[in-house]
Amino acid sequence: MKDNNRFVYLDNAATTKASDEVVALFVNSEKENFANPNSIHALGIKNAKYVQIAKDNILKAFKLSKHKVILTSSATEANNLAIKGYCLKYQNRGKHIITSNIEHPSVLECFYQLRDSFGFELTILEVDQNGVIKPSQVEDALRNDTILVSIMAINNEIGSINPIKEIANVVHKYPKANLHVDTTQAIGKLNLDYSLIDMFVVSSHKINGLKGSGALIYKSSLQFLPLLSGGGQEDGFRSSTVSVSNARTLELAIRLALLKDNKHVYELRDALVEGLSKIDGVELNSSSNGSPFIVNFSLTKKKASVVVEDLSNKGIYVSSVSACNSKKESSSYVVKALGKSDALAHNTVRVSFEHENTVEEVNIFLEELKNTLEAIR
Ligand code: PMP
Repeated sequence: MKDNNRFVYLDNAATTKASDEVVALFVNSEKENFANPNSIHALGIKNAKYVQIAKDNILKAFKLSKHKVILTSSATEANNLAIKGYCLKYQNRGKHIITSNIEHPSVLECFYQLRDSFGFELTILEVDQNGVIKPSQVEDALRNDTILVSIMAINNEIGSINPIKEIANVVHKYPKANLHVDTTQAIGKLNLDYSLIDMFVVSSHKINGLKGSGALIYKSSLQFLPLLSGGGQEDGFRSSTVSVSNARTLELAIRLALLKDNKHVYELRDALVEGLSKIDGVELNSSSNGSPFIVNFSLTKKKASVVVEDLSNKGIYVSSVSACNSKKESSSYVVKALGKSDALAHNTVRVSFEHENTVEEVNIFLEELKNTLEAIR
């Protein structure tokens, strides 16, 4: 039965709702600051300053003095530029590259392309049963001709957290190697020393900002072969007219995200995990050491897609597999990488929080999950 009044949104790893502050700034900025920041008239010059201030404030928010910002359309684009743009630029230094087996497709597919179309030698590290890469695995794989290591901060399906600081220390023993970190799910959700990372990415829509806006943040000594050639914007690394509104709303979203306190989200996670432990036919895939923002479990007796659809009819929104993957295949390569069976990997449910979610919403989810599991065959 459809409950028209209910709205319990627990799919925040797929995307978040833009905050009122971000939407208000966007509307105002689009009305006032529509001129092209590359134009040489007064409006253009004023807007170029707005963009520069936004970038400076982004770097300040991350406490960075040796990095720069390239504005992109998304984390997917930022990952592509970081991985392909960097590797193609520096391929004469060495052609060995390293990543892990549970990276987001926007990272993994870049590595496959570098291997299959550009002759790079690829090492793919395998996570342990908690979805984590150990620094010693990276150390063992590094070579004198390794130019790039890419390990994500927080996995988008199961919420596992990698030891980025320790991995950075290992990578930087090798002078030709740089570290890229897919931080899409980590901004404002994990204490990270961003100054240790050579390249990392932001997706505005994952932090209550706007779709179609992201950034690559990189050590200013690095260069990239541009993937978008054209008018030479963004230091020639990413051509296309810069959106002043995207720059300003991204800055605002980042500043607000980095101010947030995660304590409350641990309460949500604990309430959810406790409740799930009492439901028959549920097996947890996320570990208690992972991010509290993402809880992934498999259904052992019912089909996850059917359950997710039934919950959706009740106004409760969660994911089965990840939104990026769900149309392509119905099995989770991330859950399989934990050593779980095909059956479990086919039947995953992901609940993902933002700070505004409440324990009451968790309780509604648990109650309705129980009802759904009882009702469906
Ligand atoms: N990396 C990770 C870990 C993600 O979760 C996502 C989004 N699902 C992306 C990259 C891609 O982000 P975007 O939607 O901004 O392209």
